[in-house]
Amino acid sequence: MSKETILVVEDEADLRLILRNNLQFVGYRVLETGDGDEAAGKILGERPDLVILDVMLPGRDGFEILRDVRGQGFRAPVIFLTARAEERDRIAGLEIGADDYVTKPFSVGELLARVKAILRRSGAAASASTDRRTFGELVIDLERYAVERDGQKTSLGFFEAEILRVLLETPGEAVSRARILDEVWGGDAFPTTRAVDNHILSLRKKIEPDPANPRHIQTAHRVGYRFVP
Ligand code: CA
Repeated sequence: MSKETILVVEDEADLRLILRNNLQFVGYRVLETGDGDEAAGKILGERPDLVILDVMLPGRDGFEILRDVRGQGFRAPVIFLTARAEERDRIAGLEIGADDYVTKPFSVGELLARVKAILRRSGAAASASTDRRTFGELVIDLERYAVERDGQKTSLGFFEAEILRVLLETPGEAVSRARILDEVWGGDAFPTTRAVDNHILSLRKKIEPDPANPRHIQTAHRVGYRFVP
């Protein structure tokens, strides 16, 4: 397996150096920038396998950067570095597609463990995602993060696609919200099961002919959801 590339976006030079040295030491290729205005261009240009993204930066902040690159189709995992309680609240409240967050000051060992776990997860997801499945009038293409209904194509968000992937593993069987959280977000207490419900709502709008009476993504009462082919 080739070396994975990690982009560190952090304006504190000392911290950036520590992160770079540690990530390189365990075998990753590391790119870095301390400039919020430069970060989005670097992410979209270099396509790293994972981004460690500080929230408070000179120029654009981490939230703006993430929203921008997700909007432009960047799917690789992103870990936020956050310093203050308000930032953590904003991360929890805004669902803008971060995969994890780490609070400063943090232990480098813990951050490395999270990087490794997230890359393992996204690698497994990528290798299992070469499928395109057809269910009557519905085509689900997880590789391209897209669905087609009656010939009309809609793109899926990162979390929508990952939730659908979990449901499709066991068609017809109920999958609990806790398991979806665990498989998609990795078992942290963040975010809450409400995030699952919100993504299911938006998935239904894209997949179901009548989202109020779902045919494919059904609610399993008191449990979670099931995909019915
Ligand atoms: Ca900072």
